Amino acid sequence: MRSLDDLLRHGVKGRRVLVRSDLNVPLTKTDPPAVSDDLRVRASLPVITRLLDHGARVIVAAHLGRPEGEPDARYSLSPVADRLAQLLGRPVEFALDTVGESARLLANELGDGELLLLENVRFNPGETSKDETARGEFARCLAMLTGGEDEGGAFVEDAFGAVHRKHASVYDVAKLLPHYGGDLVRDEVSVLKALTGKPERPYVVVLGGSKVSDKLAVINSLLPKVDRLLVGGGMCFTFLAAQGHEVGDSLLEADQIETCRGFLAQNGHKIVLPTDIVVASDVSADAEPRTVAADAIPSGMKGLDIGPRTVAAFAEVLGSARTVFWNGPMGVFELAPFAAGTKGVAQAVAAVSGLSVVGGGDSAAAVRALHLDGNAFGHISTGGGASLEYLEGKTLPGVAVLEEE
Ligand code: ADP
Ligand code: MG
Repeated sequence: MRSLDDLLRHGVKGRRVLVRSDLNVPLTKTDPPAVSDDLRVRASLPVITRLLDHGARVIVAAHLGRPEGEPDARYSLSPVADRLAQLLGRPVEFALDTVGESARLLANELGDGELLLLENVRFNPGETSKDETARGEFARCLAMLTGGEDEGGAFVEDAFGAVHRKHASVYDVAKLLPHYGGDLVRDEVSVLKALTGKPERPYVVVLGGSKVSDKLAVINSLLPKVDRLLVGGGMCFTFLAAQGHEVGDSLLEADQIETCRGFLAQNGHKIVLPTDIVVASDVSADAEPRTVAADAIPSGMKGLDIGPRTVAAFAEVLGSARTVFWNGPMGVFELAPFAAGTKGVAQAVAAVSGLSVVGGGDSAAAVRALHLDGNAFGHISTGGGASLEYLEGKTLPGVAVLEEE
């Protein structure tokens, strides 16, 4: 994979370079909306800054949320353009469309060291289309914003959070322009390689979050490789149910119970489940939480966090770990009564001496929302889905295409 350094070595002054960044950030519900968590914007700055400093004419393509292939003001990247300009300390031109008149005009007018952000690429149905031709057509329009290869156009892939998607701006466009892996993609992939290669042992994985079904594949491929799997969050209840316990009104994916039972039968000695659970009658900030034994969740109650005994047990396992991957909050950390489990586990992960990796949008958000020191972790990934798919052993299309000539 050619790197950004390779591109800079060839010289980029005056060339138009298309950069796929991951600017998929949460927005506030205010009018107008603003960026409420800018981790991904900050993570995108190094590549953009280096290109601008070398005199490139930078065109950034990115997506936000899941609009349905047509313009939808709720998903406009306009607030992100403002934050980007603020963080860069330079003006950012913002196109009102993806590859339309506005984008083409602004791309043509870019001067050396100037930056253009395109509107949300998912406003165009070609971006996510399953039809190669439709995707290819949109990719060709994106590539032509740089003038194409003959005019010095180049593509830099830096949207780690999107590389598991075979989308036009992530995958197809790399086939049309000389392509380079950005610093963020390089760093993320090298951390994941460390996890999948020969991790130092004990290797402990902590999984939580809301959907077991999303994470079954990763459990399946990780279980043989890890020394311990700690399970908390909404997904622990399907495991508890698999052990035959009542889980009240907690999150439960009944159709996955059998699969969880299989994991327990095969690798039960590696799986650590909660022994106590914080329950409440509803998911609200002024609910009255109670801690109960994990095998005695009262009917009608919801399990919304792991209890203090579980936190201590998880922390003990983490205390001797040399490699840790954590994905998914231990409870509904967004509400104060149910945040202690996530905070306790996060602190234990941060204290690991060895490689600690946090993956997952909500897990990374929890680290910040709970005012934990991000620097204490070895690596906080910007891409939840992408890192999980990599750990499952799947090929990431946006990375694989960079390996091609
Ligand atoms: P990530 O983005 O880090 O991969 P997920 O998206 O899988 O994490 O899950 C995050 C969500 O899981 C959070 O919004 C959190 O409130 C929710 N969650 C965690 N524990 C529970 C629980 N016991 N019941 C319901 N929701 C939960
Ligand atoms: Mg999430």
